[in-house]
Amino acid sequence: MQDRETDGHRARKRFGQNFLSDPNIIRRIIDAIKPQDGDILVEIGPGLGAMTHPLIERVPHLHVVEIDRDLIARLRERYSPDRLSIHEGDALKFDFSTLGAPLRVAGNLPYNISTPILFHLAEFADRVKDMTFMLQKEVVMRMVAEPGTEEYGRLSVMLQYRFRMGRLFDVPPGAFRPAPKVMSSIVRMVPLPAEQLGAHDDALLGEIVTAAFGQRRKTLRNTLKDYLDEAGFAALGIDPGLRGERLSVAEFVAIANYCSAHGR
Ligand code: SAM
Repeated sequence: MQDRETDGHRARKRFGQNFLSDPNIIRRIIDAIKPQDGDILVEIGPGLGAMTHPLIERVPHLHVVEIDRDLIARLRERYSPDRLSIHEGDALKFDFSTLGAPLRVAGNLPYNISTPILFHLAEFADRVKDMTFMLQKEVVMRMVAEPGTEEYGRLSVMLQYRFRMGRLFDVPPGAFRPAPKVMSSIVRMVPLPAEQLGAHDDALLGEIVTAAFGQRRKTLRNTLKDYLDEAGFAALGIDPGLRGERLSVAEFVAIANYCSAHGR
């Protein structure tokens, strides 16, 4: 894809810049977000403001996190600081807890960093009310995938463990300038209550899920050999001959808790 000019700005591929230009799609996304008076709302990657403008019309104050200095300069010219707080920098390093709670998060995310940004945001789940994002469709399909499907993997388990998620609608490449090569989807994520999560050790859960999906073709007996022996599999009622993709989120949590209880 060539870098091309939109609104006098040359889209930067390294920042995943594809700007929304279809007013109907923009309206549908804003309707899905349902911004309300009093919301603490942050938009990640405002870009040329396709979503920023309609959002700021609906809330008295908006936060944005943007990495591209040229785009930041444009936003500064257009909005006063009492309406728009511009946080200049990398959303992957941004401390979202500084904005207050309950926080609402939205954005047409840069697709080249979608997975790390989702994992970074998951760390703030206990302060978040909801998140509405546009991502490439293939990533959204992995986020909402069910066990036993090809798309089901580490991203599905680690996000479904923390969030209730729903794919709202798809967006074709023609809705952007420049047009990306892939289809996009809108996904909504609502954190589950802390008491519903159930893992005693989130880091251990992450390790186990990573191990189980590290070599997708191998069975759990093999991929989880550092965590569970035959007695452990039997106690949990899990067949060690299965592959990781067959296990539900609850079964991964049960494995992690069994390991914590047995000092592994
Ligand atoms: N929201 C605009 C729209 O819908 O037209 C722009 C979306 S564009 C797909 C992604 C935006 O995220 C760009 O403005 C880009 O500069 C910004 N961005 C890319 N990497 C970023 C990062 N690490 N932290 C913050 N913003 C980033």
